This record gives sequence, C-alpha cells and structure tokens, in this order.
Amino acid sequence: MTRTFAIKSFGCQMNVYDAERMGEALAADGLHEAGTESADVLILNTCHIREKAAEKLYSEVGRIAKRAREDGRKPVIAVTGCVAQAEGAEIMRRAGAVDLVVGPQAYHRLPELLKRQAAGEERLVDLDMPADSKFGALPGRQRRGPSAFLTIQEGCDKFCAFCVVPYTRGAEASRPMDALVEEARQLVAAGAREITLLGQNVNAWGQGNMRFGELLAEIAAIPGVERLRYTTSHPRDVTEAMILAHAEIPQLMPYLHLPVQSGSDRILAAMNRKHTRAFYLDIIARFRAARPDIAITSDFIVGFPGETEADFQDTLGIVEEVGYAQAFSFKYSPRLGTPAAERDDQVPEEVKSDRLQRLQALLQEKSLAFNAGTVGRACDILIERRGRQPGQWIGKSPWLQSVVVTDPTLTVGDIVSVEIVGAGPNSVEGRMLQMKTAA
Ligand code: SF4
Repeated sequence: MTRTFAIKSFGCQMNVYDAERMGEALAADGLHEAGTESADVLILNTCHIREKAAEKLYSEVGRIAKRAREDGRKPVIAVTGCVAQAEGAEIMRRAGAVDLVVGPQAYHRLPELLKRQAAGEERLVDLDMPADSKFGALPGRQRRGPSAFLTIQEGCDKFCAFCVVPYTRGAEASRPMDALVEEARQLVAAGAREITLLGQNVNAWGQGNMRFGELLAEIAAIPGVERLRYTTSHPRDVTEAMILAHAEIPQLMPYLHLPVQSGSDRILAAMNRKHTRAFYLDIIARFRAARPDIAITSDFIVGFPGETEADFQDTLGIVEEVGYAQAFSFKYSPRLGTPAAERDDQVPEEVKSDRLQRLQALLQEKSLAFNAGTVGRACDILIERRGRQPGQWIGKSPWLQSVVVTDPTLTVGDIVSVEIVGAGPNSVEGRMLQMKTAA
C-alpha cells in the first residue's frame, strides 16, 4: 500500500523551498502527496522567528492528533524547520504525538528516518548539521508553477540582537556555483520562467573571488530564465556589482527587498545591525541611480527594547524618505537566547501596538502611492493563477505587484504585456496589450 504524505509549511520563502525539496525526496522514495487530513505522514515545517510562531506548533499538533483520534487514524507526525532545530527533543517532551524531529540541515534523511520509525524505532531526533551539504543527497527538481525558488545561501553570521536565525540555521554557507546553475537548469526544464534566489543573506553568497553580482549574471544567462529575483539582502553585503546588475541584466527584475528594521541610529546600533541610517540611504540612492524605477521593500520592528518616541519618529521618517513599495512590520518579540530578550528596558505591549498601527498606516499610504505611480506604464507580467471573476487572472509585475487582468485566452505561465490602468494599496489593474510568450 503506497504511503501518503502532506507538508504544512510556516514562515519564510526558505521554508517553502525546503518543503518543496522534502516533498521531492519523499516522492522519489515512492510516497504520494495527499491532503493534511488524510495523509499517513504529516510534516509540520516550522518557523521560529516570533514567540507566537513557536507556540503555534504545539496547538497545531494538538489539533491534528485530536482530529486523527476522532477519525481512528494514527498519522506519523514529523516536525521540521527552525523550531525543530531550536527546541529538538523538548518538542517530544511537550507534544507526545510527535514521532520525528528533523532540523533544516538534515531533512534529506527523512525517507530513511521514516523507514526506521516504521521498523519500530521511536521518537527519532536528527538535528545534525552535516559537513557535506544536504543538497547533494536530494533528488532533481520536479515540475512546479511558472515561478520557482532556489536557495543559494543559508545561515547567518550577523547576530542581530533580536534574531534566532544564526542559532537555528547556523553559520553563513554558500552553495557552489555549478550546483546552482544545474538546479536552475532543472527548474527551467520543469517549467519555471521566473527564478527567485533565496538566502537568509542572499547577497552574502560567495565562492572564491566570485560574489553575488557574478552569480546573478550566470543564472540570468541560462536559456529559459526570463525573469530573475532574489531575497533577502543585508545592507552590509551590498556590492557595486550587485547594484550594477540592475542596470545591465534585462532579466533581473527592478525589485529590492532590503530590511532596515529601524530608522534610528541608536536602535540600529542596539540591534547590532552593523550600519547607520545614512549608510542605508546611500545604498538606496545608488540602486535608484542604477535603476530609477526600482521597487524598494523592507522589514520593520517596532518596540525594540529601549525604543523611545523619538526613535520611532526616525522610523516613520525613513519610510517617508524611501517611499517603500511594500513592507513587512512587526512588534518586537523577545526570543529566548537572544541578547535583546535579556534587556530590562522592554517596551510595554500597548505602546508597541500603537506604534505598529501608526507605522502600518503610513506604509499603506506609501504602497498606494507607489502603485498609483505605475498607472499608465506598460510592463510584462507573469500569469500565476486564476482571479475570482471568469476570465480573470493574477500575474506579477516586474515590481512584484499583483496585477489583475481579464482575458479568457490566458493561462498560468503566460508572459503578457499590459498597461497598468488602476491602483490599490495591495494590487493594480492591468489592461491586456499583447501576448509576449505563451506558457
Ligand atoms: S541578518 Fe539579522 S535579522 Fe537577518 S537572519 Fe541574520 S541575524 Fe537574523
């Protein structure tokens, strides 16, 4: 009887990528994908970035185990991702229904671990960070949608005072260029037209004398790579070659996600971000000089310990100055084991909530202004899925906007030229001009 599996992934795009690779490894081992409510093996791919995210795991396991008992089933429950790495066997102690705990660097061994579990070995924990990368042990890429993720770098050496990633994902490690070119070719052969390069600090990628700027050119040169993106960058790892790539490589989309977290130099120093507000703004100016229409997005944390109203005003000020196309913003969440969690000048919850509300109102205003600024422009969009209305499709613009276009002849994977005719805070409307390349 063929076993079935389901993967529920939480958190960032790197977790989405890992979930895809886990699925391919299990499929290559003869398992079939099924729904979470019926699968024999259920994998919870977790995120550890905020307190709430970790707690979500335990409530999820409880819900799944209760539901399975009601259905008379006993699925194998495996926990992977950053909570697995951070909490390890503690997960087993807190959640009796969990059978396997596997860290982000060990998931290529899932098929073997499932066999050992089926053979009677109980409550297996594998958090190993093997020297030889997991990537070599994973099967080739399988068919997915028109846009695909490709992890090029993992881990982080920056140790921002609020962040657990250096502890859960380990030190910065770059995958070899030839393996990345090979995987990108596999993704194109499997139908991808757009590739997004991923890394905790994607622009920290390096191999010998080669840096991220060179890698962008290599991947863009692969036949069939029509659109190229990357995320998430760190201001300290920006190079001139990376900036120039936006002026020279036509496949490289005019989009940059560059987290700043705060606009206050005092808080940037306390966060150990290793750069000042002026340093960051200079980088933004250089990207805009290279590619004037580039969309800039970012991440923000409000209520970092010690943050005053004046510091927060500096954050609002940098939003005004940059004019972000989009941004993700969160209340500071103390993470066990991080320096900031030890500080005794924590900001009260109601102050955090008030600041988050004010920041998000301003960010929404800026997103609407950015989208309104693209009305009247013609651009190519990649059709990614159906819209709600008949004949309606949703695609992605070069600036990563969601574009709603109506034309019954389209399908997923088409690249079409549209004129942007309407704007909202989270999407724009496109009028069909012509088909560029059919799926
Ligand atoms: S750069 Fe900072 S915020 Fe980003 S993953 Fe590294 S430690 Fe975390």
